[in-house]
Amino acid sequence: MNKTLSVSAIQNGTVIDHIPSGQALRIINLLRLLDKKCRVTVGINLSSQRLKEGKDLIKIENYTLSSAEANKITVFAPEATINVIKNFEVTEKIITQLPESIEGAFSCPNIACITRMEPVESFFKLEEQGNGVKLVCHYCEKIFDRNQVQVKI
Ligand SMILES: [Zn+2]
Repeated sequence: MNKTLSVSAIQNGTVIDHIPSGQALRIINLLRLLDKKCRVTVGINLSSQRLKEGKDLIKIENYTLSSAEANKITVFAPEATINVIKNFEVTEKIITQLPESIEGAFSCPNIACITRMEPVESFFKLEEQGNGVKLVCHYCEKIFDRNQVQVKI
């Protein structure tokens, strides 16, 4: 796909590119895009020169991600390119950083965890380990891979 075309296809909004294949839907849930009532276009399993196994792409119209929202994306897409579009032009590239922790967004995969039994908001510390992000549950202290945690819907 022509990169210029894919980025400039919306007039105003945010384009999240270079998402590893299969992670787009989790990012949509994580950012609560379904609740935001904005128009979202998703590309899944697109070809990419940078990501050998393909990439996903999310275009959000008339909505600019906050840096806190953009930082959350790094859990699932550490190398995502996040561009703010105004009048079909890229006006800003949002630089992301892995947040230290994320509260409430995920459910703990450990069925014995207190967050699964009590009305307690989940709380995960995030750690970069090797080539992936690990999520450490604050309550049961178990460590999970990003593909093990479920995003709460
Ligand atoms: Zn837990």
